[in-house]
Amino acid sequence: MEGIGTTTVIVIVNRDTASRTPWVPILSGDAYHVEDFPANGLVTPLLASELEQVLERFSREAGFTKAHPVDVVFKPGTVGHHQVGRAADIYVVGGRGLDIWKARWDRAHRAAADATDSLGVLAEEKRNNLGWRLYKALQTYGRWSQPYGYPIQLFGPWTRIEGPWKFISDRLLHAHRDHVHVAK
Ligand SMILES: [Zn+2]
Repeated sequence: MEGIGTTTVIVIVNRDTASRTPWVPILSGDAYHVEDFPANGLVTPLLASELEQVLERFSREAGFTKAHPVDVVFKPGTVGHHQVGRAADIYVVGGRGLDIWKARWDRAHRAAADATDSLGVLAEEKRNNLGWRLYKALQTYGRWSQPYGYPIQLFGPWTRIEGPWKFISDRLLHAHRDHVHVAK
């Protein structure tokens, strides 16, 4: 099951149609700002609009505004759906890497285990952890690709905890320890 989700078959099937569609960057919205979208990370218009809608909703719900938008950093991917413009990788939100947000999440959960108000500690972490909030917004509001026989194409540091594919292999989880990957 390792390497699942980046199957060569999918790439071959879609290369033809995808190559006829002009690829676009993912644009900033009202409450979020995309920093330096990589030219070699262009995506299909369908993926761009799906991500833009989710990012707008995520950032508004997290309390960001036009005057104070949250920053989001994408980096280009190279394998699987990336080759046909149908995937995007988010590495940074709110000035911190997704790996940093995940480490903070893990620390809060360890602290909660010893706290008298453990539910309060966890609730506060859910409110304040923008990495987790972004992951959950992508999971809740996004409609991502699910190739036949494969899991929904949303992978990141929280996949084993939150799903949608909790059986993610150690190798694939490690590969997504510092970013969130979505495909459409
Ligand atoms: Zn990716």
